[in-house]
Amino acid sequence: MFENNVMQQGPSPLKKKPWASLLERLGNNPEKAGQAFRNPSGRKKRTILREKIYLRGKNIWIMAGLYIHVPFCAKRCLYCDFFSSTEKGYKEPYIEALIREMSLRKAYLGGEPLRTIYLGGGTPSQLSVADLGRIFEAIYRTFKIAGQPEITLEANPDDMRPEYVKALRGLPVNRVSMGVQSFRPDDLRFLNRRHDREQAIRAVELCQDSGLENISIDLIYGLPGQTRQAWEENLGQAIQLRIPHISAYHLIYEEGTALHRLLQAGKVAPVDEELSVAFFTTLIERLTAAGLEHYEISNFARPGFISRHNSSYWTGENYLGLGPSAHSYNGTDREWNPSSLPTYIKGMREGASIVESEKLDIPTRYNDYIITGLRTMWGISLPEIKAKFGDRLMEYCQKQASPHLDRGLIRRDGDRLILTRSGIFISDGVMSDLLWI
Ligand code: SF4
Repeated sequence: MFENNVMQQGPSPLKKKPWASLLERLGNNPEKAGQAFRNPSGRKKRTILREKIYLRGKNIWIMAGLYIHVPFCAKRCLYCDFFSSTEKGYKEPYIEALIREMSLRKAYLGGEPLRTIYLGGGTPSQLSVADLGRIFEAIYRTFKIAGQPEITLEANPDDMRPEYVKALRGLPVNRVSMGVQSFRPDDLRFLNRRHDREQAIRAVELCQDSGLENISIDLIYGLPGQTRQAWEENLGQAIQLRIPHISAYHLIYEEGTALHRLLQAGKVAPVDEELSVAFFTTLIERLTAAGLEHYEISNFARPGFISRHNSSYWTGENYLGLGPSAHSYNGTDREWNPSSLPTYIKGMREGASIVESEKLDIPTRYNDYIITGLRTMWGISLPEIKAKFGDRLMEYCQKQASPHLDRGLIRRDGDRLILTRSGIFISDGVMSDLLWI
């Protein structure tokens, strides 16, 4: 689902570029890309350092984030490569294992208070409110929580029945991210989504009526045969519903998915590059005209509704990821759990360490910083690069950015380098030139 694979804008998702493996390693996904940036689950990883960062010119101490991967879906969507299972029998042992993992790994964040909590998946709304309550009770018992944390639950629209939404209001959840993907019936059938247009609209309205204002939806564009008019109608519906946060991703043909098999069999054809660019142009123009700020390549928000959790990945916050396939980051190392429910459950029962990890060297951390930072409207900071990665990489960055500054693809704002509107359209290319390879 969220918001968060290489989130792809514009150009063809089929072309493998030299930097594609790095981007993929960092994470990219249609439904969650936000999740590429949305969460540290599966392939959505972000590397960031726990340090004082400079956001919008202000010094801010950042705190920790918690991501919980809920690996259950009622059925698999055509395009999805996130780790999830349709085996309901694993739910109870999963919850027990998750609560056990909290106590086993609570020291990972060094006692830092949680500023954001994000339940992603999979489909967290496949859990009952009682089960979610047990998870939140364990979180609050195990971790320190900062004042006014952002607490997000990913949900599928068809799970958001009136009684479910009403019961959710009894939990600390204050933000819902829904995998709407499209308001068009043909698109939803093609993507093998469970919900229909009416359920998507009703789910948004139910949340709004319940007083839950902080709503995000995911949309996918670049579907085979999609027209620009169809995409405009989708965006128009989202605008009409006054949804304050929208994540929009280009469809990607991920290997191993049913969609990729259709492609290989010649049963679907990707949209051409020109149309991809037109979709992205329409996306930016329609949403910014409606008052949403384009704060990250694939993310738009009304004032006050920028996702704090996603932003934490882009700006350097430590995070702990719990559940199968979840990733964690502590400033120098990345760790991840196995993408297997039986292995995860068995490991937690035995109290065994099942995480794999990698130490991130300075060039890797620099590259991650470039990729994550340039995607945002805050860009990258030269003093921050110097402080974190040294003079040599800062000078390298400046040298590599110079032609893009001349061509108007990057602009300078004080000590920061930020993609221009033109640069956003070819962001992969600009980023790759700044990477240390
Ligand atoms: S609901 Fe669909 S897209 Fe979301 S995680 Fe499950 S299978 Fe993937």
